[in-house]
Amino acid sequence: MVTSLTFLGSGGGRFTTIYQVRATGGVYLEDGRVRVHIDPGPGALVQMHRFNVNPTKTDIIAVSHAHTDHYTDAEVLIEAITNGGTKKKGALIGSKSVIEGYDEFDPAISRYHRGLVDKVLSFTPGESFEYKHLRIKATKSFHNDPTTIGFRFETTKGVISYMADTDYDDSLAEEHEGARILILPVTRPLGAKIPYHLSTKEAAKIIAAVKPELAILTHFGLKMIEENPDFQADWIWKETGIRTIAADDGMVVEIGKKIEII
Ligand SMILES: [Zn+2]
Repeated sequence: MVTSLTFLGSGGGRFTTIYQVRATGGVYLEDGRVRVHIDPGPGALVQMHRFNVNPTKTDIIAVSHAHTDHYTDAEVLIEAITNGGTKKKGALIGSKSVIEGYDEFDPAISRYHRGLVDKVLSFTPGESFEYKHLRIKATKSFHNDPTTIGFRFETTKGVISYMADTDYDDSLAEEHEGARILILPVTRPLGAKIPYHLSTKEAAKIIAAVKPELAILTHFGLKMIEENPDFQADWIWKETGIRTIAADDGMVVEIGKKIEII
């Protein structure tokens, strides 16, 4: 049984998304027969075509929050899962803002599209759900969509944790304890912290506390791209002693006894 991650993008933040300096299609997790598309932002479908991932085979769409770089292609993907809206199947998991709407955010997915999937789950941190053998737990985030959630996947090859957009908080390490792979949205490089997002230095602090087998940085803002994500990942690797890499568009990670980057 294959367990893998495909990065359908490694970009994030307003201007990387607007100019598509890096793709913003999210992350695709395959754990045997269960396939999850996490945060399908603008161009997710284009990247699936480019990297040979079949949208109709997806089981679950997981959307962390109601910012455009995380949800815009989700409705088309729901149509892909449900055979063009004719077969009720699959699941949609999202933050309260994505599913129900919150404050100035209308629901990010229309009532029509929510009606096409078999299960719709509006999650707050701590809630979990099982789909076949895969357990998914919502984790805390500290973002300017206050309902933002991350995802902790208990796969057949161990825990893969996806941190959503967040500011630094000491409690985050606990949320992702025991993860073999930790995916972190590092929007900003060393020396360029902004509120509600992680910078390289803060990512290092979380990685040092969680001690995953592999840490993957993604969701790069323009300034991060200018400052070279590979250099930033190497800095964390040296600082923490934990294998840390920067995602690339189309990067595939295969998880077995060993973790391999393809
Ligand atoms: Zn965001």
